[in-house]
Amino acid sequence: LLMENITELKSLMATPKNIVLTSHRNPDGDAIGSTLALYHFLARQGHHVRMIVPSDFPANLSWMSGIENILVYDDDPESVADLFEHQDIVFCLDFNAIDRIDKVGQLFIDKAEITKVMIDHHLFPEPFPDFVLSDTSASSTCELVFRFIELLGQLDQVDVIIGECILTGILTDTGSFKYSTSSKLFKIVAQLLERGVDDYKLQDLIFNSMKEKHLRLLGHCLNRRMEILDEYNTGIIVLTKEDYARFDIKRGDTEGIVNYLLKMRHIKMAAFIMEQPTIVKISLRSKGDFSVQEIAQKYFRGGGHKNASGGASFIGLRPTVRKFKEILPDYKEKLNQA
Ligand code: 5GP
Ligand code: MN
Repeated sequence: LLMENITELKSLMATPKNIVLTSHRNPDGDAIGSTLALYHFLARQGHHVRMIVPSDFPANLSWMSGIENILVYDDDPESVADLFEHQDIVFCLDFNAIDRIDKVGQLFIDKAEITKVMIDHHLFPEPFPDFVLSDTSASSTCELVFRFIELLGQLDQVDVIIGECILTGILTDTGSFKYSTSSKLFKIVAQLLERGVDDYKLQDLIFNSMKEKHLRLLGHCLNRRMEILDEYNTGIIVLTKEDYARFDIKRGDTEGIVNYLLKMRHIKMAAFIMEQPTIVKISLRSKGDFSVQEIAQKYFRGGGHKNASGGASFIGLRPTVRKFKEILPDYKEKLNQA
C-alpha cells in the first residue's frame, strides 16, 4: 500500500498543523528513529509537532537529536491526555495495532476530527488510519519514512540530522544489514551517506554501548538459562524475576540476546521468555520460511514479522514455558524442513 491518496494528505499539510507522532511501547531504534526523522522534517515545514511513546526508550539512543522532546506517557499521563484536545493529525509509526500503544490509543482513536496516518512495516495492519503507508517487505519504518518524504517530493529536506535518524532504524531493524535488506534499501542508504551520514559513527554509538552488566547478563543467559531442543531445532532462553533483580535488568537490557540462539546452524526458532512484574514477555525469532508471527498471534496475543515477533502471557513463567513447549509438536515437521 503506497498511499494512493497522498495528494489529499499533502494538501491537508499545506498549512501548519498540530501534529502528534507516536510509536509503540518499549520503543526500539526504528520506533525512535522514524519518530525523530519525521519530527525534524515536519517541524521545519512549520508544523507544531509533539512526540509521544507509551514507555521509556533505551539508553543507547540518548545521543539522538531531538530525543529530549519525546514525551513518555507512563511518566506523565495527564499532560499527554490534555495534548490530544487540540490535534489535527496523528502519525502512527512502526506499529499497526492500536493496542501496541497502550492507553495512548484511546486518546485519539475515536476522535473523528483527528486525521490518522500510519507508516509501518508489520504484517496485518488494522484498518483505523485515514492514510496508510504499509509495506511488509520494507526493512524498517525508517526506510518508509524516507520513501514518504520522497513521495512528498521533498528529499532535498533530508540532511545529516534526518539521515542519522533514518539510518538508526535501518541499522537496528536489519541487525546491521543482516535481515530484510533489498537493493532498494541499499540505494536509500547510499543516498543517506551522500548526504553526509557517517554509518561507522552510528554503528559505534548504537551498538558499542553495552555496560559490564549487559555482557554478564548475556553470559548468564547463554551459560545458565539456555535450553536447546534439538528435536524441534528450537532454542529457548528463560529469565526469572530473580535474574531481573540479580542483574538489575531494565527495559531494553535484554535486547538482542534472543538472536544468539540463531547462530547455531540447525536452530530455526528462538524464544526468549522473561518474567516481568505483571506479565511474561515473549520474543520470538526464526530463520527462513518458518513464521513466528503465527505463533505470536495465535498463542501469545502478539504479532510482528515473519522472522521477528513478540507477545505476552498472563499465566506465570513456568506455565508459559510449558505452553510454548507444548506448541512445538504441531510445528515439528516445518521446523525440520531444510
Ligand atoms: P521484540 O521481540 O524485539 O520485542 O519484538 C519483535 C517484533 O515483534 C517487533 O517487530 C515488535 O513490534 C513485535 N512485537 C513484540 N511484542 C509484541 C506484542 O506484544 N504485540 C505485537 N502485536 N507485536 C509485538
Ligand atoms: Mn520496525
